[in-house]
Amino acid sequence: MTGPGELWLPGLQHEPSANSDERPGDGEVDLLVIHSISLPPGEFGGGYIQDLFLNRLDPQAHPYFAEIVRLEVSAHLLIRRDGAALQFVALERRAWHAGLSSFCGRQRCNDFSIGIELEGSDDTPFTMAQYARLAVLTAQIQALFPAIREDRIVGHSDISPGRKTDPGPHFDWALYRESIADNRRDEENIRES
Ligand SMILES: [Zn+2]
Repeated sequence: MTGPGELWLPGLQHEPSANSDERPGDGEVDLLVIHSISLPPGEFGGGYIQDLFLNRLDPQAHPYFAEIVRLEVSAHLLIRRDGAALQFVALERRAWHAGLSSFCGRQRCNDFSIGIELEGSDDTPFTMAQYARLAVLTAQIQALFPAIREDRIVGHSDISPGRKTDPGPHFDWALYRESIADNRRDEENIRES
């Protein structure tokens, strides 16, 4: 199933979220924001993240859920612990992932960014399957939105400092940036051959 918008990536599960809308202004996308989330906090694999993004979270299922059930949030993409990916919002549309935020003096990062959530927490390492999938998705996104250069890939904590800590101290930026550079080299080799 594919929801509103056009840019639904192939090879992953599509779960259109109502928590999205048209980007304002010229709609240019030039920022990628990496997040992490777990529901309930610190627990993995429950399917509650999808439920939250699809406005079907059961507030009775956990005491924490009653606080967040009305948040109306989403992200473009979610990468689960096993590397499986889900897409909730077409990439050219605005997902509601960053909240109060600013990058290089520009407010409301949702307007011009793509948000990827990794299922994880501030005190657990991410899985190699997640890094592998993230590298592939990043390459696909950069191919569609070339303005997302390497210096325009940030964590939620970078654009909402003091308010957000994700993706947290266990997110291996060096490993991630190496995989982006590898992608870039492969792409250049293909172009030259
Ligand atoms: Zn976040």
